[in-house]
Amino acid sequence: MNKSLKCIASAVLLVVVTFFSRSAFADSEVYTVAMEPTFPPFEMLDSKTGKITGFDVDLIKAIAKDQGFEVEINALGFDGLIPAVLTGKLDMSISGFTITDKRAKVINFSDPYIDAGIGVMKRSDDDSIQTLDDLKDKTAVVQIGSSGQKVAEDLKESGKLKAVVVMDNVALAVADLIKGRADVVINDVTVNVAYAKGSNGAIEMLKTPLNKEEYGIVISKNNPELLEKVNKGLANIRANGTYDIIFAKYFKAK
Ligand code: GLN
Repeated sequence: MNKSLKCIASAVLLVVVTFFSRSAFADSEVYTVAMEPTFPPFEMLDSKTGKITGFDVDLIKAIAKDQGFEVEINALGFDGLIPAVLTGKLDMSISGFTITDKRAKVINFSDPYIDAGIGVMKRSDDDSIQTLDDLKDKTAVVQIGSSGQKVAEDLKESGKLKAVVVMDNVALAVADLIKGRADVVINDVTVNVAYAKGSNGAIEMLKTPLNKEEYGIVISKNNPELLEKVNKGLANIRANGTYDIIFAKYFKAK
């Protein structure tokens, strides 16, 4: 090979190597995800690391890994999550969102990822509340914009509950209950279980749930590609056992 041919050959080689190394190490797509982290065991702040942990965090990371994208996870107030997805500030939100027709008019939901339902928490030493029929003269505290708020307002409308107080998040609602500023919290059953467990016996739940719901991941209607990836990833991790491992980590008694 003469000198100029050698030169061309090495230039071609350089271009080829750069191209392949680029595509092999190309940064994968990073999607922004937010959640409201006072909703254990779905999303909660780890006081030691300051990071958000929980079922929803593990689930979205497993979906991302399966589909070859990355997620950047942030905390946001619950009533700010859907607006942030709507305005494009966020790519998606996984935050124990109940799939409702009203929400589905403005955003897309992924396929359902877990069964849920709304229930009632009370102070353990309050004997005046034994069943749902005892709520007629009681005040409920709820999280703003939650399906629990809707259930509570419907109960009030039909005369089965006296008043509804709205707080920014579930932690504040539970604090109100413990301090006696409200009689009950109306909120998602699984999360109520976590708060009751962590309350040193101060709060307990009424046995009968108020309804049945399902959670979905919130994605903009402008991003059908992301919806497809999330649904594919969810189906894959259900099929390959990853979902079961995450479920067991948070919901199987130890
Ligand atoms: N599941 C309820 C809802 O979608 C509450 C969710 C939450 O507080 N993170 O409204």
